[in-house]
Amino acid sequence: MITKGQLFILSGPSGSGKSTLMRQVLPNLPGLAFSVSHTTRQARPGERDGVHYHFVDSATFLALRDQQPPGFLEWAEVHGNLYGTSVAEIEEKIRQGVDILLDIDVQGARQVLRQRSDVVSIFLCPPSLEVMAERLRRRATEAESSFDLRLENARKELACASEYTYLLVNDRLETAVEGFRSIIIAERLRHRRNPDGQTVHLLR
Ligand code: ADP
Ligand code: 5GP
Repeated sequence: MITKGQLFILSGPSGSGKSTLMRQVLPNLPGLAFSVSHTTRQARPGERDGVHYHFVDSATFLALRDQQPPGFLEWAEVHGNLYGTSVAEIEEKIRQGVDILLDIDVQGARQVLRQRSDVVSIFLCPPSLEVMAERLRRRATEAESSFDLRLENARKELACASEYTYLLVNDRLETAVEGFRSIIIAERLRHRRNPDGQTVHLLR
């Protein structure tokens, strides 16, 4: 019996398609739970508190960050807002053997990878910066200043893609979905995720 859930990290520039990919994959992959981050950013139309994010003010965020032991596994300032993964959000699920998907930026991914060696990281990249900008523009959720900042940050984030275990290109969505599912399924089949001696009875 697997006794511990696996942590998966998904990173990629804003507009690379992380939310779209997760929406397609998560309902069809039992045992993989989305980690709901805390953020100080304003909710976009259609985003729900506790589902997409825990939307909190800066004081609440900083209190969680500074408590002892720290309330966040990792946190970062991204595009001018604070984002973090609370320990409480993932601890119980991991203990229960549920796999967890963290949608976090490069700075947060580095913090998690420094603390844990058993993390599988996936970087999602757009087919080109032009296509990504066009998709982000069509999504029409950002003010012009935030839009520019997100594009500027995209270049810096893309430069870190090689730090990740896997690289997925989101050109055709169906192909990216298939790639993502394949990674999760293959990682679940690793020997180390299965108890010692599970196959021993076959040799008796
Ligand atoms: P992220 O969560 O990484 O910021 P989104 O999932 O919101 O990105 O995707 C940004 C926009 O691009 C959305 O409007 C989405 O519908 C669109 N999109 C995502 N993937 C594709 C794709 N493969 N082909 C065309 N449009 C896409
Ligand atoms: P958005 O505002 O578009 O939802 O997210 C902006 C960026 O913040 C994305 O790169 C996303 O991966 C990242 N992000 C979301 N939640 C967290 C988190 O808990 N920690 C960190 N470090 N980044 C996060």
